[in-house]
Amino acid sequence: ACGGGDSENKTYSVATDNNFVPFEFLNEETGEMEGFDMDLIRAIADEAGIDIEIESMKFDGVVTGMQSERYDIGIAGMTITEERKETIDFSDPYYDAGLMLAVQKDNTEIKSEDDLAGKKVATRSGTTSETYLKDNHPEAEVVTFPGIVEAYMDLQSGRVDAVMYDVPNVQYYVANDSKGELKTVGDILQGEQYGIAFPKGSELVDDVNEALQTLIDNGKYDDIYEKWFGE
Ligand code: GLN
Repeated sequence: ACGGGDSENKTYSVATDNNFVPFEFLNEETGEMEGFDMDLIRAIADEAGIDIEIESMKFDGVVTGMQSERYDIGIAGMTITEERKETIDFSDPYYDAGLMLAVQKDNTEIKSEDDLAGKKVATRSGTTSETYLKDNHPEAEVVTFPGIVEAYMDLQSGRVDAVMYDVPNVQYYVANDSKGELKTVGDILQGEQYGIAFPKGSELVDDVNEALQTLIDNGKYDDIYEKWFGE
């Protein structure tokens, strides 16, 4: 009887997206999930003194996994929205993002979101881009996929005319994974901020916010940022 309750050696489950470069993706060689979010949540867990176990899934599974309280924490480049806040709790914002368009390198027709009427625009289901397209571009033909890589593949093969997605993901994919076949166009659309997600009423929110602030103050957040986004 040492007391302390069962929280002492509890392992908290962390739900993440199975592919959202460079925030979370599988390193095929090590079999480990890596990326900005993965480094951040591991550093937060260290700082807060909690054990975590990471499980990856489709993005919409992370959202529903919070709502059903199936997982304790969700980190998946998840945008803080008023609608999600009705069913999910969020940490303080930890990353400023937004939306952006990608097209084939030689495309001269689509220069911005003003040129999307009658075009096929691919994105991922259950995301802020899907909502943005439906709200702002009813005259575009929106095609959704469970994974964003499938949307980029369809763009590279010419089955769709554009992809709309999160700025850091579009920029990273275009620069590193598109074999030079794609380019970004237009301005950043709709400012967004990412937050770490929790089931409503979670007791972890304060501890995670405190740990996040410590990492920002002591420079560890900057080191992780530099590793994934530095020039
Ligand atoms: N930021 C987007 C959203 O929250 C997409 C995130 C992702 O694909 N992991 O809807």
